[in-house]
Amino acid sequence: MSTGELSFYQSVQRNFDKAAAHTDLHKGLLEQIKVCNAVYSMRFPVKIGNEYQVIEAYRVQHSQHRLPTKGGIRYSLEVNQDEVMALAALMTYKCAIVDVPFGGAKGGVRINPKAYSTKQLESITRRYAAELIRKNFIGPGIDVPAPDYGTGGREMAWILDTYISFNHGDIDGAACVTGKPVSQNGIRGREEATGRGVYYGLKEAVSYKDDMSRIGLTTGMAGKTMVIQGLGNVGSYTGLICQNEGDAKIIAVSEFEGAIHSEKGINIAELIKYRKETGSILGFPGTKKMKDRAAALELPCDILVPAALENQIHVRNAANIQAKIVAEAANGPVSSEGEDILLKKGVLIIPDMFINAGGVTVSYFEWLKNLSHMRFGRMEKRFNQQTYENILNLVVKLTGKTLGDKERLFVARGADEIDLVRSGLEETMVSAYQQIREVYKRKKKITDLRTAAFVCALDKIAADYVSRGIFP
Ligand code: GLU
Repeated sequence: MSTGELSFYQSVQRNFDKAAAHTDLHKGLLEQIKVCNAVYSMRFPVKIGNEYQVIEAYRVQHSQHRLPTKGGIRYSLEVNQDEVMALAALMTYKCAIVDVPFGGAKGGVRINPKAYSTKQLESITRRYAAELIRKNFIGPGIDVPAPDYGTGGREMAWILDTYISFNHGDIDGAACVTGKPVSQNGIRGREEATGRGVYYGLKEAVSYKDDMSRIGLTTGMAGKTMVIQGLGNVGSYTGLICQNEGDAKIIAVSEFEGAIHSEKGINIAELIKYRKETGSILGFPGTKKMKDRAAALELPCDILVPAALENQIHVRNAANIQAKIVAEAANGPVSSEGEDILLKKGVLIIPDMFINAGGVTVSYFEWLKNLSHMRFGRMEKRFNQQTYENILNLVVKLTGKTLGDKERLFVARGADEIDLVRSGLEETMVSAYQQIREVYKRKKKITDLRTAAFVCALDKIAADYVSRGIFP
């Protein structure tokens, strides 16, 4: 890179090496975990209007220690092999940390999705999917894509349709991709999952008195000031849920078109509506426009949430960051060298491979749903509801008191799919944080959460290899 800074992939590898030094794993085993197992770089033509465009695309399977491999597909002009390799590697560690039994992968198509019509995007997506099928880079037990930056349920539905038309009669075909629309074998709660996971992870992180007092904060989400970079899927749901359920105060939002600021707090639901109508966050009532979009990152706040792209906090701006906590909702938003500066300042960095793992966690639930061919809750919902009814009736009988309809409904209900997904997600995020924090507290030489998270992941991945007798 012209700046002399590390590339994204090099940055991930540097973090890996830092963590590997805290393990006593076999050198060869560490090397096997570190490298990308399979890199598929492709070029294919798509007819756009009267022209043929050659599209550059990738799918990288970083680690096949568990199958299928898993990870999103990104549509962006920044896509290149180095980036996809870095993102695939992060998926491996992410899955291990939240105990999702997949290897890591990632895909990327080097296009600006906004520059194409829906029909053209469909052609590109279907052609990309066909390339993956041809090379055996997709399948319920092989490699399962999902949404990422620039893609969503619509693209996943196209991929599913392409896959099943090539695999007619595959009863598990729906599990070839996750993040599908609910009507196309998706799962309720997948769309909000990454943002909701950020909320659950943050809520757990700010619940420890000793950790919070070290950075001069009190416990609890309520009243914490937040700055959010990026109002895409992840940033939007993080903001909405932290505000509605955590009572956090969002004081600034930064997007492509610029940044806005209000010490009184910004209503995220209103802001999203406003942006949909006007095409921009700028001019949102009650807010001031900031100098530029990068300025929001440097505001004093309790929690900074970079939820856009990688390398947003780097050696050139890290010294200016005034947040006490940086929650990496995006993948790789803090460069490895930028992190050194933040850590020296005492910033608590909650690493991407943990805090944004909600997406892949609910993808795992979706995959399980597809393989079981049944919606979660279908078997037990009514049974549980009846059991709670029976208990309430007994309580009424024994106490001689009556119960209102509202009180009854509060207790006597069985869980729907969305309730189970959220519950499973919260459990996943809380227990993963506890594992990371345990390593962080126990290994005195580890002084940051990313290294602790990496060590957790490395131990689990290594155990897989060792149990298969590949390494001693
Ligand atoms: N793209 C998301 C991520 O970076 C989700 C991946 C998935 O669900 O497989 O974690």
